[in-house]
Amino acid sequence: MTATASDDAPAIAHFRFFELEVLRTRRLGHSFLRVTFGGESLKDFRSGGFDQSLSLFLPPDGQEHTVLPSTDEDTWFGAWRGMPDEERPVMRSYTVREQRRTTEGADEVDIDFVLHGDASPASRWAGRAVTGRRIMAIGPAVAENKSVRFQPSPAADAIWMYADETALPAAAAILERLPAGTAVRAWFEVPHEDDRLPLPAPADADITWIVREGDGRDRTEQVLSALRAAEPATAEAPYVWLAGEAGTVRATRRHFVQERSVDRRSVRFTGYWRLGASEEQLLAEAYAGQAPSEEPTSEL
Ligand SMILES: Cc1cc2nc3c(=O)[nH]c(=O)nc-3n(C[C@H](O)[C@H](O)[C@H](O)COP(=O)(O)OP(=O)(O)OC[C@H]3O[C@@H](n4cnc5c(N)ncnc54)[C@H](O)[C@@H]3O)c2cc1C
Repeated sequence: MTATASDDAPAIAHFRFFELEVLRTRRLGHSFLRVTFGGESLKDFRSGGFDQSLSLFLPPDGQEHTVLPSTDEDTWFGAWRGMPDEERPVMRSYTVREQRRTTEGADEVDIDFVLHGDASPASRWAGRAVTGRRIMAIGPAVAENKSVRFQPSPAADAIWMYADETALPAAAAILERLPAGTAVRAWFEVPHEDDRLPLPAPADADITWIVREGDGRDRTEQVLSALRAAEPATAEAPYVWLAGEAGTVRATRRHFVQERSVDRRSVRFTGYWRLGASEEQLLAEAYAGQAPSEEPTSEL
Protein backbone atom coordinates (compact mmCIF):
# COMPACT_ATOMS: atom_id res chain seq x y z
CA MET A 1 0.00 0.00 0.00
CA THR A 2 2.95 2.34 -0.12
CA ALA A 3 4.79 4.03 -2.92
CA THR A 4 7.92 6.16 -3.02
CA ALA A 5 8.39 9.15 -5.27
CA SER A 6 12.06 8.27 -5.65
CA ASP A 7 14.45 5.89 -3.95
CA ASP A 8 15.61 8.35 -1.31
CA ALA A 9 12.29 10.14 -0.73
CA PRO A 10 10.33 9.14 2.36
CA ALA A 11 7.59 6.61 1.70
CA ILE A 12 4.18 8.16 1.12
CA ALA A 13 1.28 6.04 2.18
CA HIS A 14 -1.21 6.46 -0.64
CA PHE A 15 -3.76 4.26 1.06
CA ARG A 16 -4.57 3.53 4.68
CA PHE A 17 -7.28 2.11 6.85
CA PHE A 18 -10.23 4.27 7.90
CA GLU A 19 -13.08 3.55 10.26
CA LEU A 20 -16.37 4.67 8.75
CA GLU A 21 -19.54 5.14 10.76
CA VAL A 22 -22.96 5.18 9.11
CA LEU A 23 -24.53 8.61 9.67
CA ARG A 24 -27.62 8.23 7.49
CA THR A 25 -29.04 6.49 4.43
CA ARG A 26 -31.19 7.77 1.59
CA ARG A 27 -32.91 5.96 -1.27
CA LEU A 28 -31.97 7.63 -4.57
CA GLY A 29 -33.85 5.50 -7.06
CA HIS A 30 -35.20 1.98 -7.45
CA SER A 31 -31.75 0.40 -7.24
CA PHE A 32 -29.62 2.96 -5.40
CA LEU A 33 -29.11 3.54 -1.72
CA ARG A 34 -26.79 6.36 -0.62
CA VAL A 35 -24.96 5.65 2.63
CA THR A 36 -23.31 8.68 4.21
CA PHE A 37 -20.38 7.88 6.46
CA GLY A 38 -18.57 9.98 9.03
CA GLY A 39 -15.91 9.32 11.63
CA GLU A 40 -12.82 10.90 13.19
CA SER A 41 -10.39 9.12 10.89
CA LEU A 42 -11.95 10.79 7.81
CA LYS A 43 -9.97 13.93 8.60
CA ASP A 44 -7.07 12.16 6.84
CA PHE A 45 -9.18 10.90 3.91
CA ARG A 46 -8.21 12.53 0.60
CA SER A 47 -10.42 11.55 -2.30
CA GLY A 48 -8.96 12.34 -5.70
CA GLY A 49 -12.52 12.70 -7.06
CA PHE A 50 -13.54 11.38 -10.47
CA ASP A 51 -13.83 7.56 -10.20
CA GLN A 52 -11.94 7.30 -6.91
CA SER A 53 -12.58 3.87 -5.46
CA LEU A 54 -11.95 2.31 -2.09
CA SER A 55 -12.19 -1.12 -0.48
CA LEU A 56 -14.81 -1.72 2.16
CA PHE A 57 -14.64 -4.46 4.78
CA LEU A 58 -18.17 -5.46 5.77
CA PRO A 59 -18.98 -7.55 8.84
CA PRO A 60 -20.40 -11.04 8.50
CA ASP A 61 -24.07 -11.58 9.36
CA GLY A 62 -24.70 -11.35 13.08
CA GLN A 63 -21.88 -8.85 13.73
CA GLU A 64 -22.74 -5.16 14.02
CA HIS A 65 -19.32 -3.68 13.34
CA THR A 66 -16.29 -4.73 11.33
CA VAL A 67 -13.44 -6.19 13.35
CA LEU A 68 -10.04 -6.70 11.73
CA PRO A 69 -7.18 -8.38 13.60
CA SER A 70 -4.63 -5.97 12.09
CA THR A 71 -4.65 -2.69 10.20
CA ASP A 72 -0.87 -2.61 9.88
CA GLU A 73 0.06 -2.25 6.22
CA ASP A 74 2.52 -5.16 6.29
CA THR A 75 0.42 -7.67 8.18
CA TRP A 76 -3.28 -6.92 7.61
CA PHE A 77 -3.68 -9.06 4.52
CA GLY A 78 -2.33 -12.28 6.08
CA ALA A 79 -4.24 -11.61 9.28
CA TRP A 80 -7.48 -10.96 7.41
CA ARG A 81 -7.08 -14.00 5.16
CA GLY A 82 -6.27 -16.16 8.18
CA MET A 83 -9.56 -15.39 9.94
CA PRO A 84 -12.15 -18.21 10.16
CA ASP A 85 -14.57 -17.96 7.22
CA GLU A 86 -17.55 -17.19 9.43
CA GLU A 87 -15.76 -14.25 11.10
CA ARG A 88 -13.88 -12.76 8.14
CA PRO A 89 -15.30 -9.45 6.87
CA VAL A 90 -15.93 -9.40 3.11
CA MET A 91 -13.85 -6.96 1.08
CA ARG A 92 -15.69 -5.11 -1.69
CA SER A 93 -14.78 -2.25 -4.05
CA TYR A 94 -16.95 0.88 -4.11
CA THR A 95 -16.72 4.46 -5.37
CA VAL A 96 -16.39 7.62 -3.36
CA ARG A 97 -19.40 9.46 -4.77
CA GLU A 98 -18.53 12.55 -2.76
CA GLN A 99 -16.28 13.67 0.05
CA ARG A 100 -17.12 16.95 1.80
CA ARG A 101 -16.55 18.92 4.97
CA THR A 102 -19.74 20.15 6.63
CA THR A 103 -20.17 23.70 7.90
CA GLU A 104 -19.61 22.27 11.40
CA GLY A 105 -16.22 20.97 10.25
CA ALA A 106 -17.12 17.27 10.14
CA ASP A 107 -15.91 15.10 7.25
CA GLU A 108 -18.43 13.01 5.32
CA VAL A 109 -18.21 10.49 2.51
CA ASP A 110 -21.13 9.29 0.36
CA ILE A 111 -21.17 5.85 -1.22
CA ASP A 112 -24.02 4.86 -3.55
CA PHE A 113 -24.76 1.14 -3.29
CA VAL A 114 -26.69 -0.77 -5.93
CA LEU A 115 -29.15 -3.03 -4.11
CA HIS A 116 -29.20 -6.21 -6.15
CA GLY A 117 -30.65 -8.65 -3.65
CA ASP A 118 -30.16 -10.06 -0.19
CA ALA A 119 -28.10 -13.04 -1.29
CA SER A 120 -24.93 -10.99 -1.85
CA PRO A 121 -23.02 -9.71 1.20
CA ALA A 122 -22.43 -6.07 0.24
CA SER A 123 -25.90 -5.54 -1.18
CA ARG A 124 -27.39 -7.19 1.91
CA TRP A 125 -25.26 -5.10 4.28
CA ALA A 126 -26.23 -1.85 2.58
CA GLY A 127 -29.91 -2.73 2.56
CA ARG A 128 -29.78 -3.15 6.36
CA ALA A 129 -27.38 -0.31 7.18
CA VAL A 130 -28.47 1.77 10.16
CA THR A 131 -27.00 4.82 11.86
CA GLY A 132 -24.08 3.98 14.12
CA ARG A 133 -22.83 0.84 12.31
CA ARG A 134 -19.06 0.93 11.82
CA ILE A 135 -17.10 -0.64 9.02
CA MET A 136 -13.46 -0.49 7.95
CA ALA A 137 -12.12 0.72 4.60
CA ILE A 138 -8.84 1.05 2.78
CA GLY A 139 -9.04 4.43 1.15
CA PRO A 140 -6.92 7.25 -0.20
CA ALA A 141 -4.64 9.28 2.08
CA VAL A 142 -3.39 11.36 -0.87
CA ALA A 143 -5.56 12.70 -3.69
CA GLU A 144 -3.20 11.56 -6.45
CA ASN A 145 -3.46 7.81 -6.24
CA LYS A 146 -3.82 4.81 -8.52
CA SER A 147 -7.46 4.24 -7.65
CA VAL A 148 -8.44 7.26 -9.70
CA ARG A 149 -8.49 5.59 -13.08
CA PHE A 150 -10.05 8.38 -15.11
CA GLN A 151 -6.89 10.00 -16.52
CA PRO A 152 -7.58 11.63 -19.91
CA SER A 153 -4.66 13.03 -21.81
CA PRO A 154 -4.64 16.84 -22.07
CA ALA A 155 -4.90 16.34 -25.85
CA ALA A 156 -8.28 14.59 -25.60
CA ASP A 157 -10.96 16.58 -27.47
CA ALA A 158 -13.96 14.59 -26.21
CA ILE A 159 -14.95 12.25 -23.39
CA TRP A 160 -16.96 9.16 -24.29
CA MET A 161 -18.35 7.04 -21.48
CA TYR A 162 -20.27 3.85 -20.87
CA ALA A 163 -21.37 2.86 -17.35
CA ASP A 164 -23.87 0.40 -15.92
CA GLU A 165 -25.58 1.09 -12.59
CA THR A 166 -22.57 0.03 -10.49
CA ALA A 167 -20.41 2.58 -12.32
CA LEU A 168 -23.02 5.34 -12.40
CA PRO A 169 -21.74 6.84 -9.11
CA ALA A 170 -18.27 7.03 -10.65
CA ALA A 171 -19.62 8.46 -13.90
CA ALA A 172 -21.60 11.10 -11.97
CA ALA A 173 -18.52 12.10 -9.97
CA ILE A 174 -16.50 12.35 -13.21
CA LEU A 175 -19.17 14.45 -14.93
CA GLU A 176 -19.38 16.93 -12.10
CA ARG A 177 -15.62 17.54 -12.26
CA LEU A 178 -15.40 18.12 -16.02
CA PRO A 179 -14.93 21.74 -17.06
CA ALA A 180 -17.91 23.47 -18.69
CA GLY A 181 -17.72 23.05 -22.44
CA THR A 182 -16.16 19.54 -22.37
CA ALA A 183 -17.63 17.53 -25.22
CA VAL A 184 -19.23 14.51 -23.53
CA ARG A 185 -21.03 11.58 -25.13
CA ALA A 186 -22.25 9.03 -22.61
CA TRP A 187 -24.32 5.85 -22.46
CA PHE A 188 -25.66 4.82 -19.05
CA GLU A 189 -27.35 1.46 -18.53
CA VAL A 190 -29.72 1.02 -15.57
CA PRO A 191 -32.26 -1.62 -14.51
CA HIS A 192 -35.25 0.71 -13.96
CA GLU A 193 -36.70 3.94 -15.30
CA ASP A 194 -36.34 5.69 -11.97
CA ASP A 195 -32.64 4.84 -11.75
CA ARG A 196 -32.09 7.63 -14.28
CA LEU A 197 -30.64 9.88 -11.61
CA PRO A 198 -30.20 13.60 -12.19
CA LEU A 199 -26.58 14.11 -13.26
CA PRO A 200 -24.40 17.16 -12.76
CA ALA A 201 -23.09 17.06 -16.32
CA PRO A 202 -21.63 19.90 -18.42
CA ALA A 203 -24.54 21.70 -20.10
CA ASP A 204 -24.07 20.25 -23.57
CA ALA A 205 -23.29 16.67 -22.51
CA ASP A 206 -25.13 14.19 -24.70
CA ILE A 207 -26.41 11.35 -22.50
CA THR A 208 -28.32 8.27 -23.64
CA TRP A 209 -30.07 6.19 -20.98
CA ILE A 210 -30.43 2.49 -21.66
CA VAL A 211 -33.10 0.99 -19.40
CA ARG A 212 -32.55 -2.77 -19.38
CA GLU A 213 -35.38 -4.90 -20.58
CA GLY A 214 -36.42 -8.33 -19.31
CA ASP A 215 -34.11 -10.25 -17.00
CA GLY A 216 -30.99 -8.56 -18.32
CA ARG A 217 -29.62 -11.64 -20.05
CA ASP A 218 -29.20 -9.71 -23.29
CA ARG A 219 -27.74 -6.63 -21.60
CA THR A 220 -24.66 -6.61 -23.82
CA GLU A 221 -26.74 -6.71 -27.01
CA GLN A 222 -28.94 -3.87 -25.77
CA VAL A 223 -25.92 -1.73 -25.01
CA LEU A 224 -24.23 -2.48 -28.32
CA SER A 225 -27.42 -1.60 -30.23
CA ALA A 226 -27.57 1.76 -28.44
CA LEU A 227 -23.92 2.43 -29.22
CA ARG A 228 -24.33 1.46 -32.88
CA ALA A 229 -27.45 3.62 -33.22
CA ALA A 230 -25.46 6.71 -32.26
CA GLU A 231 -24.14 9.23 -34.77
CA PRO A 232 -20.68 8.51 -36.19
CA ALA A 233 -17.87 9.96 -34.11
CA THR A 234 -16.80 13.50 -34.76
CA ALA A 235 -13.96 13.79 -32.23
CA GLU A 236 -10.37 13.33 -33.39
CA ALA A 237 -8.85 12.32 -30.07
CA PRO A 238 -11.57 11.00 -27.75
CA TYR A 239 -10.79 9.57 -24.31
CA VAL A 240 -13.04 6.60 -23.61
CA TRP A 241 -13.95 5.47 -20.08
CA LEU A 242 -15.89 2.23 -19.70
CA ALA A 243 -17.00 0.51 -16.49
CA GLY A 244 -19.64 -2.01 -15.47
CA GLU A 245 -20.29 -5.72 -15.88
CA ALA A 246 -17.08 -7.29 -17.19
CA GLY A 247 -18.51 -9.04 -20.26
CA THR A 248 -20.41 -5.95 -21.40
CA VAL A 249 -17.40 -3.75 -20.76
CA ARG A 250 -15.24 -6.02 -22.94
CA ALA A 251 -17.80 -5.84 -25.74
CA THR A 252 -18.04 -2.04 -25.53
CA ARG A 253 -14.24 -1.78 -25.65
CA ARG A 254 -14.20 -3.86 -28.83
CA HIS A 255 -16.90 -1.59 -30.25
CA PHE A 256 -14.90 1.58 -29.66
CA VAL A 257 -11.57 0.15 -30.81
CA GLN A 258 -12.74 -1.90 -33.79
CA GLU A 259 -15.90 -0.18 -34.99
CA ARG A 260 -15.04 3.42 -34.11
CA SER A 261 -11.28 3.20 -34.59
CA VAL A 262 -10.42 4.69 -31.21
CA ASP A 263 -6.75 4.35 -30.27
CA ARG A 264 -6.76 1.50 -27.72
CA ARG A 265 -4.36 3.47 -25.50
CA SER A 266 -7.10 6.07 -25.04
CA VAL A 267 -9.59 3.55 -23.68
CA ARG A 268 -9.75 3.00 -19.91
CA PHE A 269 -11.94 0.02 -19.16
CA THR A 270 -12.71 -1.65 -15.84
CA GLY A 271 -14.89 -4.64 -15.00
CA TYR A 272 -16.69 -3.58 -11.81
CA TRP A 273 -18.29 -6.99 -11.38
CA ARG A 274 -18.81 -10.14 -13.41
CA LEU A 275 -22.10 -11.95 -13.93
CA GLY A 276 -22.02 -15.15 -11.88
CA ALA A 277 -18.82 -14.38 -9.94
CA SER A 278 -18.47 -12.86 -6.47
CA GLU A 279 -15.72 -10.36 -5.77
CA GLU A 280 -13.78 -13.07 -3.88
CA GLN A 281 -13.61 -15.10 -7.08
CA LEU A 282 -12.45 -12.07 -9.07
CA LEU A 283 -9.81 -11.23 -6.48
CA ALA A 284 -8.58 -14.81 -6.37
CA GLU A 285 -8.07 -14.68 -10.13
CA ALA A 286 -6.46 -11.23 -10.04
CA TYR A 287 -3.97 -11.88 -7.31
CA ALA A 288 -3.50 -15.64 -7.56
CA GLY A 289 -3.19 -15.83 -3.79
CA GLN A 290 -0.90 -12.81 -3.35
CA ALA A 291 -1.52 -9.72 -1.23
CA PRO A 292 -2.63 -6.74 -3.28
CA SER A 293 0.02 -4.03 -3.53
CA GLU A 294 -2.74 -1.44 -3.64
CA GLU A 295 -6.44 -1.23 -3.28
CA PRO A 296 -7.77 -4.01 -5.51
CA THR A 297 -9.70 -3.79 -8.73
CA SER A 298 -11.00 -6.33 -11.14
CA GLU A 299 -9.60 -4.40 -14.08
CA LEU A 300 -9.73 -6.51 -17.19
C1 LIG B 1 -13.47 0.11 -8.83
C2 LIG B 1 -14.89 -0.36 -8.50
C3 LIG B 1 -15.84 0.56 -8.06
C4 LIG B 1 -17.15 0.13 -7.78
N1 LIG B 1 -18.08 1.05 -7.34
C5 LIG B 1 -19.34 0.64 -7.03
C6 LIG B 1 -20.31 1.60 -6.53
O1 LIG B 1 -20.03 2.77 -6.28
N2 LIG B 1 -21.57 1.12 -6.29
C7 LIG B 1 -21.92 -0.20 -6.49
O2 LIG B 1 -23.06 -0.57 -6.23
N3 LIG B 1 -21.01 -1.10 -6.95
C8 LIG B 1 -19.74 -0.71 -7.21
N4 LIG B 1 -18.82 -1.63 -7.65
C9 LIG B 1 -19.27 -3.00 -7.92
C10 LIG B 1 -19.35 -3.87 -6.65
O3 LIG B 1 -18.05 -3.98 -6.07
C11 LIG B 1 -19.85 -5.28 -7.07
O4 LIG B 1 -21.16 -5.20 -7.56
C12 LIG B 1 -19.77 -6.30 -5.94
O5 LIG B 1 -19.77 -7.57 -6.53
C13 LIG B 1 -20.92 -6.19 -4.96
O6 LIG B 1 -20.69 -7.11 -3.91
P1 LIG B 1 -21.84 -8.08 -3.37
O7 LIG B 1 -21.32 -8.64 -2.08
O8 LIG B 1 -23.13 -7.36 -3.36
O9 LIG B 1 -21.92 -9.22 -4.48
P2 LIG B 1 -20.86 -10.43 -4.70
O10 LIG B 1 -20.85 -11.33 -3.51
O11 LIG B 1 -19.54 -9.88 -5.12
O12 LIG B 1 -21.51 -11.20 -5.92
C14 LIG B 1 -22.55 -12.16 -5.71
C15 LIG B 1 -23.31 -12.37 -7.01
O13 LIG B 1 -23.97 -11.15 -7.35
C16 LIG B 1 -23.61 -10.76 -8.69
N5 LIG B 1 -23.54 -9.28 -8.68
C17 LIG B 1 -22.57 -8.47 -8.18
N6 LIG B 1 -22.91 -7.18 -8.34
C18 LIG B 1 -24.12 -7.17 -8.98
C19 LIG B 1 -25.00 -6.14 -9.40
N7 LIG B 1 -24.74 -4.84 -9.21
N8 LIG B 1 -26.16 -6.51 -10.01
C20 LIG B 1 -26.48 -7.81 -10.19
N9 LIG B 1 -25.69 -8.84 -9.79
C21 LIG B 1 -24.52 -8.51 -9.18
C22 LIG B 1 -22.29 -11.43 -8.98
O14 LIG B 1 -22.14 -11.69 -10.34
C23 LIG B 1 -22.41 -12.74 -8.19
O15 LIG B 1 -23.09 -13.70 -8.96
C24 LIG B 1 -17.51 -1.24 -7.93
C25 LIG B 1 -16.52 -2.16 -8.34
C26 LIG B 1 -15.23 -1.73 -8.62
C27 LIG B 1 -14.20 -2.75 -9.07
